[in-house]
Amino acid sequence: MTRISPDGATPAMAQWFTLKAENPEALLFFRMGDFYELFFDDATAAAAALDIALTARGNHGGEPIAMCGVPVAAAPAYLSRLIRRGFRVAVAEQTEVPRKGRPASKGPLARGIVRVVTPGTLTEDELLEPGRSNLLLALVCPAGADKGKRRKDAPAEGAGPLGAAWIDVSTGLFETASLPATALPALLGRLDPAEILASAAVELGDYEARRAPEATLPAPGSARQRLAAAFDVASIEAFGTFSDEESVAAAMAVDYVRRSQAGKLPRLAHPIAQSQNGVLGIDPATRASLDILRARDGGVEHTLFTAINRTVSAAGARMLAEWLASPLTEVAAIAARQEGWWWLKDHAARCAALRDALKKAPDIARALGRLSLGRGLPRDMAGIRDGLHAAREAARILAGPDGGDAAQLPTVLAHAMGWLGAARALEAELHTALAEELPARLDDGGVIAAGYDGELDEHRALRDNSRRLIAALQAEYATRFGVSNLKIRHHAQLGYVMEVPVGASARLKDNPDLILRQGTASTARFATEELASLNVRITEAAEKAAQREKQVFAELTAKVLAERELPELAQALAVLDVLQSCAALATGGTWCRPDVREDTAFDLQGCRHPVVEAALPRGARFTPNGCVLAPERRVMLLTGPNMAGKSTFLRQTALAVILAQGGFPVAADSARIGVVDQLFSRVGASDDLARGRSTFMVEMTETAAILNQAGPRSLVVVDEIGRGTATLDGLAIAWSVLEALHSTVRCRAIFATHFHELSRLVDTLPRLCLHTMAVREWRGQIVFLHEVLAGSAKKSWGVHVARLAGVPVSVVERAGRLLRELERAENTIPEPLPLFDTQKTLPPPCENTLKKRLMEIDPDSLTPRAALDMLYDLRRLAGQDTDTSAAG
Ligand code: ATP
Repeated sequence: MTRISPDGATPAMAQWFTLKAENPEALLFFRMGDFYELFFDDATAAAAALDIALTARGNHGGEPIAMCGVPVAAAPAYLSRLIRRGFRVAVAEQTEVPRKGRPASKGPLARGIVRVVTPGTLTEDELLEPGRSNLLLALVCPAGADKGKRRKDAPAEGAGPLGAAWIDVSTGLFETASLPATALPALLGRLDPAEILASAAVELGDYEARRAPEATLPAPGSARQRLAAAFDVASIEAFGTFSDEESVAAAMAVDYVRRSQAGKLPRLAHPIAQSQNGVLGIDPATRASLDILRARDGGVEHTLFTAINRTVSAAGARMLAEWLASPLTEVAAIAARQEGWWWLKDHAARCAALRDALKKAPDIARALGRLSLGRGLPRDMAGIRDGLHAAREAARILAGPDGGDAAQLPTVLAHAMGWLGAARALEAELHTALAEELPARLDDGGVIAAGYDGELDEHRALRDNSRRLIAALQAEYATRFGVSNLKIRHHAQLGYVMEVPVGASARLKDNPDLILRQGTASTARFATEELASLNVRITEAAEKAAQREKQVFAELTAKVLAERELPELAQALAVLDVLQSCAALATGGTWCRPDVREDTAFDLQGCRHPVVEAALPRGARFTPNGCVLAPERRVMLLTGPNMAGKSTFLRQTALAVILAQGGFPVAADSARIGVVDQLFSRVGASDDLARGRSTFMVEMTETAAILNQAGPRSLVVVDEIGRGTATLDGLAIAWSVLEALHSTVRCRAIFATHFHELSRLVDTLPRLCLHTMAVREWRGQIVFLHEVLAGSAKKSWGVHVARLAGVPVSVVERAGRLLRELERAENTIPEPLPLFDTQKTLPPPCENTLKKRLMEIDPDSLTPRAALDMLYDLRRLAGQDTDTSAAG
């Protein structure tokens, strides 16, 4: 933005310059009457982004001042568009009430910034997605890495864990974590924060665009003190143990939120330190390849979330998204979720009743967020009332007809039920306090029910009586002044006036009881002393009623915020919604309850890809496939042509793990899964030209990430490793990666490839098993059966797929001829290529007793003594083998 000097500005513009300087990065919404006006470059940028008219207002420095404006009443919609386009907006309101008779010499009304609207600090429904959290994330480098220059310096590689803290201002969620710098990409992927506060040294990768412009780091001591003060405790240790970095990150986030709300802190839950241990590791590339919460096109339609979402409330949808984004690794915690929905599935009628009750539960957490910032609307208060009612209903349903079932509920349901009874008295109070029909805004009046507050009732009675008196005056004046069609009307500027047709005005204008206030072509308006005094009474009573109503609303807000258990109650309703959603999914028998266990089992039967299945055209049937990976055949080599369903099979296997460990039902006949600690999925190559990395470079970087991070409890599903380079070095890379996964990483893996030559490795890699996608050739055409069978593909079908895709017939036929020639040529190469030279590169065939013995060894279970014995044994066998081959 070009710097414009404030010199010579009019008083109003001088005020604008002062406010703009407080938040130079943000567009300034400058309140003028019923509009927020924008000036100078702000106006140009906003007019372009919002597609509204750009005008001018006065001059500054000899140039017209660019201006545009948005009506206050429509501001949320405009704000939402600006925020989505990456702007931040500072809202300046009039902080002085305009009074009649205020001299113009006093200058413009006082204005102040009441809020800075940023992507990570939103509270309004219009600006938020109902079913998604909206997180502000703060990240801090380890101490020492930035000694002496805390604000700018980079973390030294491996200098220590990063501190992270994230807040959802709209719901009050507040969590922290301490994590190694290498785990940052996974955390970013999991949280998908709307805005990130971080010192310049913290690299945010794909999330760079979400970095907030400022990040001020407090010192650890002061951070702890500030946090303690914010939560009104002597020390934040009251809430658990927080590292210095976590405390600094948490204080940084809290300070930022406070600044964004002009010094006011919304209601926040106290910070909870999260351990990264109990969560399935999913790196960003894996998330991107699996379309868990968002598809690659940014939409939600073709995602795992949409395929399994049967929640009926926004809070439930948010929790479902949270569970999907961070599946668990603790068997007991997973089982607890399963028991919850299994019970609901078995109690179908109650589950249906529960669903109906939850449908009526508004978003308590977000209503609380707005109320705590003094931004609560009448419907937020009603939301609390109706949410409490729904909670009571839910508790009644869970407890059964005579209340006797409460003791037998699975733990997760019993735990939720424990919170549902909170704030009974508040519910009753809100029922009597709120009017039946609520206006949209508190200013509209009529929020508080008659009979709840004596003083309010009095003001209203006075106002309404005076109005009745006025209504009665109409008939009286008609007779008194002899004008039958005389009317008493309310006029915005004049108040109540007597209106007569213009014909009668000549006769009345000299009447001493009447004062002519206004004449138009057809009517004349007169005031009387009586009307004037009633006017004053009505205005005063109405003002008092409005004031009192606001006060009563504020008192109710305070009562709501004093109910400390409300956030937990909201959370309990969300959990119930997710569990009923799971029960709905599992009803009908096509989704199973997986058996999740501590070992390394992996056995999926009749498994499906829920998203591909849902997207199949009408009448098409998804072919389910099994997948057995453990432990004696933990690596699957999958071959087969394009379009045969390889990617789908790989992804569905990875999704089954996410679902199983998230505690959800799995789209399969049965599933037995030993807990996976890290999931790696690389399906569908992509380039990263923005960061200067070619497709092959991305492929190799991701391969490196897997080989460096995966361990024996991980699951790796990879597609087409080595495809991005020349055939021979591609094959060589694929070969060595497969060997490494099998023998060094020793994880469970599916390795899909077009190099069917790799099938030969089954002779040397004992835990490798071969599978292929079934295809049938019929009258020269290829038919995909989408079935995974034991064995390996004998040929590629690229040319057939090219034909299917509509490549011109002449090109396809030419390719067919070339292929036949190449195959012939390959078969006549005099010296076999070393890679395929089983004689030279692979050990001799299996009959070899030495190799057989070697293959029988399980190195993990050998004691040092047994290993030594084994060595002697092998040496003896080696001697025998040499003897036999020499003899042969
Ligand atoms: P490519 O190598 O070209 O990516 P692919 O072998 O990985 O191909 P997929 O992308 O998995 O093939 O599947 C292609 C299409 O086949 C899918 O979009 C889907 O319509 C259909 N399909 C895949 N698997 C199945 C299945 N098990 N049952 C029914 N249809 C399937």
